[in-house]
Amino acid sequence: MNDYYVGIDLGGTRVKIGLIRDEEIIERTMIPANAAQGLAHSLPLIRDAVNGLLEKNKLSPASLSGIGLGFPGIVDPEKKKILSTNAKYDDALDIDLEEWFNKYWSGHFFIDNDARVAAVGEWKYGAGKDSDDLVMITIGTGIGTSVITGGKLLRGKHFQAGLGGHFTIDYNGLPCTCGNIGCVEAHASTWSLRERIIHDPAFMHSAMSSVSVIDFETLFLEAEKKDHLAVRMREDCFNVWAAGLVNLIHAYDPELIVIGGGVMNNRDQILSGLTAKVHQHAWTPWGKVAICASELMEDAGITGAVYCLKYAV
Ligand SMILES: [Zn+2]
Repeated sequence: MNDYYVGIDLGGTRVKIGLIRDEEIIERTMIPANAAQGLAHSLPLIRDAVNGLLEKNKLSPASLSGIGLGFPGIVDPEKKKILSTNAKYDDALDIDLEEWFNKYWSGHFFIDNDARVAAVGEWKYGAGKDSDDLVMITIGTGIGTSVITGGKLLRGKHFQAGLGGHFTIDYNGLPCTCGNIGCVEAHASTWSLRERIIHDPAFMHSAMSSVSVIDFETLFLEAEKKDHLAVRMREDCFNVWAAGLVNLIHAYDPELIVIGGGVMNNRDQILSGLTAKVHQHAWTPWGKVAICASELMEDAGITGAVYCLKYAV
């Protein structure tokens, strides 16, 4: 008999769900989510989406071997508990997700931080397949990072090791939602980009004042058209991300950095903008850290969460 698992990647605006048989996603679906509305609001929609995938493949809820879930916050995977949130699904601290799982399905439940499970996905099935020492960074609404070192997923005593999106890159910088000042995420993530652009003195004279949505997609587009503010802001984001990556290299000594997230729709601009800066500034006498794009993209978190569940990572 085959083993069937479901992987869930709980993003701030979308929940990605995949049905996995023998290490392969055989069916996937995506539902819109609103992290500001809370997790309780999304759970019935996620339940229906999971059951929809099972029905479509003529599987009963009891035939499921388990669900692995990636959550955007600090998570204790041993107690299967969400320890802290940061402006996403803030009601999750009071929700027992294992109880929710047991109510509808059989098998085992696993939960960990979304960046961690995405890194495991890339490590086992994607761009990091040939490496046991890698860092993954996902640039989106926020910035998630995770570390595999010496063939082990790094979690830390309080499950918050490798929080590279909240490394300080400017102690005189912008306030972050986490309470720190000058985090990578506070300077160059989708949530902070909009604030920075609309408060820039050049905003009113920039093409960025007439785009429908201010995000990295429009920023890169206008930068390609040589809009002054967009070019300057893009360069600043490259500098912020490069500083964050240099910090990650100095902290964890990886041989590979995998970059994922929505920004990688512009992967050529990003890889060429970042690689030279990182190589110039990182102190790596042994050689150069390889920098590449995620291979799995949307599937990284789904496959990684199920891998962690199946093989007790
Ligand atoms: Zn922060």
